[in-house]
Amino acid sequence: MGKSDTMVNYLRISVTDRCNLRCIYCMPYGKNNFLPAREILTFEEIVKTVMILNRKGIEYIRITGGEPLMRRNLEVLIKKLKEETSQKEISMTTNGILLDGKLSQLMEAGLDRVNISLNTFKRNRYEQLTGLDKFEEVFSTVKRILSESVIPLKINIVLLKGINDDEIEDFADFTINNKVCVRFIEYFSTDNSKLHFELISGSLVKEKIEKKFGELIPCEVRGNGPAINYRINNAQGQIGFINTVTGNFCRSCNRLRLTAEGKIYPCLLSPRSIDVKNMLRNGIKEEKIKMYMDNLIFEKHNYSKKRVREHEFVMSDMGG
Ligand code: SAM
Ligand code: SF4
Repeated sequence: MGKSDTMVNYLRISVTDRCNLRCIYCMPYGKNNFLPAREILTFEEIVKTVMILNRKGIEYIRITGGEPLMRRNLEVLIKKLKEETSQKEISMTTNGILLDGKLSQLMEAGLDRVNISLNTFKRNRYEQLTGLDKFEEVFSTVKRILSESVIPLKINIVLLKGINDDEIEDFADFTINNKVCVRFIEYFSTDNSKLHFELISGSLVKEKIEKKFGELIPCEVRGNGPAINYRINNAQGQIGFINTVTGNFCRSCNRLRLTAEGKIYPCLLSPRSIDVKNMLRNGIKEEKIKMYMDNLIFEKHNYSKKRVREHEFVMSDMGG
């Protein structure tokens, strides 16, 4: 894995470290030490950071968390980003629980796409995986979005061996009659000492799907990230693979991460970050902040994942 040759143009913004779920693969032991409100970037600070990053090439934004819809008035942030910064696209990754009541407001504000995390089609299993009995709410939102073609939708699935890997074919089948992209994300262990699920590689998932549905057809247009997309012959939707663990996409990685507490990370796996909140709050000049960002992006181009984990983190803090 060598030097990156890709333009950094995509920013994941975590707007909160709070969440209304406790997914066993993300926050298995709960979390009580949430950031105090004053430590979270304000909307103005997020917009300011994005404005600076626009000049460094950022033009795609994904809002994430924690659960982004736990952040009050999120539509105000989206509107500000749309009006005050220059973005080609603003998307959001959510668990979908609070989405139905908010979606039209968010779209009016400028939201272009949504990813919903849904790891099972079974109600009881949903509760086991997430801690809350909310499957019906989330799935009815998914169905409404698809039947009314409300907004382009992707479904994110993290497969856990022995827990939901018997649903691989069901998710693939869902793409046949629905214009949706179903994406299998390889489970990534963030703290090996506490919890570990055996990895189910993207290639194994693909093999299983092909066994049932025939050879998958590669999709021509590659999206804005590490997913490799295919479709079942004649299906309306697509199937994506995000091979976080087995894939080697460092060279083509185009993203930076801004955490809720205002740190920019060049990579999920890198311990390096710059504290943009501190800089903004201490009146550091924009030119100087840009210089730090330049260095971070330069380092990113030379960074590729190491065999040994360099830092531990909680996925909900990093925005996934
Ligand atoms: N709460 C929102 C949600 O669940 O969609 C957004 C934040 S969540 C941290 C972002 C993404 O990270 C989700 O698609 C989630 O499934 C994924 N994720 C969380 N923990 C993960 C893990 N250990 N391995 C792989 N993906 C993970
Ligand atoms: Fe919350 Fe998303 Fe993490 Fe689940 S994956 S605990 S919904 S932040």
